[in-house]
Amino acid sequence: VDLPPVEADLVARRQAALGPAYRLFYERPLHLVRGEGVWLYDADGRAYLDTYNNVASVGHCHPRVVQAMADQAAIFASHTRYLHDKVLTLAERLLATLPDEIGHMMFTCTGSEANDLALRIARAQTGGTGVIVTENAYHGVTLSVAEFSPSLGAGVPLGAHVRTVPPPDARRFGGDAAGGFGAAVQAAIDDLLRHGIKPAALIVDTVFSSDGVFVGPEGVLQPAVAAIRAAGGVFIADEVQPGFGRTGAGMWGFARHGVVPDMVSMGKPMGNGYPVAGLALRPEVIAEFGAHARYFNTFGGNAVAASVAAAVLDVIEDEGLIAHADQIGRAFAEGLHDLAHRHAMLGDLRAVGLFLGQDIISAEGRPDAALTGRIVNGLRDEGVLISATGPQGHVLKIRPPLPFNAENLSFFLDKLDRVLTRCR
Ligand code: PMP
Repeated sequence: VDLPPVEADLVARRQAALGPAYRLFYERPLHLVRGEGVWLYDADGRAYLDTYNNVASVGHCHPRVVQAMADQAAIFASHTRYLHDKVLTLAERLLATLPDEIGHMMFTCTGSEANDLALRIARAQTGGTGVIVTENAYHGVTLSVAEFSPSLGAGVPLGAHVRTVPPPDARRFGGDAAGGFGAAVQAAIDDLLRHGIKPAALIVDTVFSSDGVFVGPEGVLQPAVAAIRAAGGVFIADEVQPGFGRTGAGMWGFARHGVVPDMVSMGKPMGNGYPVAGLALRPEVIAEFGAHARYFNTFGGNAVAASVAAAVLDVIEDEGLIAHADQIGRAFAEGLHDLAHRHAMLGDLRAVGLFLGQDIISAEGRPDAALTGRIVNGLRDEGVLISATGPQGHVLKIRPPLPFNAENLSFFLDKLDRVLTRCR
């Protein structure tokens, strides 16, 4: 592609300096230099409505979060082996949002580290090694976590101790997502045991984002969680995507399903752009690990990270963002349903709060990744950022910062309408 000179130079320098393993969004990569609320601005000053970013979840560069970061950085910023109250207050506040059974909070810098730690703890507790994940799951980048992140593709081998199951997609389970998903997890357990591998954990993203966004029905996880526990394993809820109010139904995605996880990993939206992540757990789960292992993470839960995460919690509370996500998310789903009357390429929609997965289908009703790509690029030309997900790449993943409002919604729907009309 023909890029303007500045961007062409950046791409060349990236390839030279960062090497071949990186991938950028878009064929003509975006060069963003500023963010504010739900808007991002490129180097030429062009504005883009961000409908994809769950990192800057309370809005890009939220002034309260930025202030908390700067204030703490100016006072004390070091490692985590001195006494400090900020991390404790944060731990207590996070635990207060979680079920009573969950009593400890450990801190990391990334979601990957949180899941890696979760696996270490699960292994110590259960004496097993087997891990069950969904077939297009993503849980992170460390060696052990990449081994159970099938969405990384065939070039990244799965561990011999890893089994995959379909996501709870009612269409694949004859209408019974909960029963079908539970049976699939049971079959994976049986297969592990048959190979002499004791199950350690079932880990799922509770909105199944990279599998194509499967948000319900409520309670869908119950049979699967019962199955892994009966097999002596633990249940880990990966809340990196649904956590911090995105579902509009409380702070955590798992709560909609009436299950209490053994461990809960969290990250991304926790710091609104600052790297802070963590793992919440039931005290009994870490008894073995705590007795024999030690845990130290230089930056995990440092005073700046803790101040930032506390500011994020303040904003979620003070701006009523959870109720807002519920309300605007419903309007969003209605808007898409309305558009679907006029655009047959809009297939099934799965949505909860501000997490929406919109299938894009061909005239024959089949998943259409090429068309989805044209829509993603067409929207970018209209000043709207979005992306696609799912194993077939045909699900528009819609996940704007939580302050996304009614005006932003009509802007989005208008642009989508235009792009779909052009794609006919
Ligand atoms: N779990 C899920 C569900 C994720 O989406 C991600 C990041 N995309 C991670 C874990 C890993 O988080 P991080 O990139 O902070 O290591």
